[in-house]
Amino acid sequence: METQLELAGGAGPFAGGARYNGYGAFLRERFGCRVYKVIVDAGFTCPNRDGTVAIGGCTYCNNDSFRPQAVNRLKPIPEQVRTGITYLKRRYRAQKFVVYFLGLAVGTRPDCVNPEKISWFERLARQYFVTLEYGLESVHDRTLERINRGHDFQCWLDAVHSTRNRGIYLCAHLILGFPWESRDEWLAMADTVSSAGLDFLKLHHLHVVRHTALGRDYLKQPFPLLGYQEYIDLVVDFLERLNPEIRIERLFGLAPEDQLLGPHWGRTKAEIQHDIEQALVRRNTHQGRFYGRIEGGG
Ligand code: SF4
Repeated sequence: METQLELAGGAGPFAGGARYNGYGAFLRERFGCRVYKVIVDAGFTCPNRDGTVAIGGCTYCNNDSFRPQAVNRLKPIPEQVRTGITYLKRRYRAQKFVVYFLGLAVGTRPDCVNPEKISWFERLARQYFVTLEYGLESVHDRTLERINRGHDFQCWLDAVHSTRNRGIYLCAHLILGFPWESRDEWLAMADTVSSAGLDFLKLHHLHVVRHTALGRDYLKQPFPLLGYQEYIDLVVDFLERLNPEIRIERLFGLAPEDQLLGPHWGRTKAEIQHDIEQALVRRNTHQGRFYGRIEGGG
């Protein structure tokens, strides 16, 4: 019989003894309470679909797979906000629910901003907590081309440089697991984004979902996807190389099972989170342990 050894956490260098610099802890410290995001879909079209940049969109993207089910883009935004609050109340069983408008987090593409828009967010950021999230997915141009992102790494870097030091928090989104990239290339991304001046980072493993170009390729000719333990080990290695100042907003992604072609890990969000934390403990390591110490990195 397999013995499950539960290792104690703590002893990490971050708030509460954590082993990585968590976004949740940062929000609690900044606002003095637990903060929840109400997600709304403003109904904007995607320039990578409507022909402004390209048509067809990114090869892995099916918007329905990453929009929470509670979000209905056809409803007006105030109604989406009300629905979102009701959902959070139910989910977290909050007896008292005080709503403050604390800020705004906008997920966008690096080629969708310009000096005027950034100045507008800069003014807003004098009063509110404002985050701009520029999707990146990979730092490798051959991947950005292959997934039809419609921008290159330099475009992302330019957007980040124009937004930095203006009171706006900066977040990026990366996908680990494109099958034509190597493990070394995934880890090299930690070194590259470490020096970009980011505040927050969202990491996702590659999902292959239905109704996407990547999904059609996968159905025709399945390609290797990350295994569960392989991803856990990769994330820990990634965190070790990452700048410890960057707060981690997400360590993995979840797609609805009925849309997911793979990988099927059969784990809940809480289990994945727990297993990553346990792997950090088992290896007695933490985010930033090797930051700047790997040749060619940081
Ligand atoms: S992932 Fe790509 S296609 Fe999908 S919404 Fe973002 S930019 Fe558009």
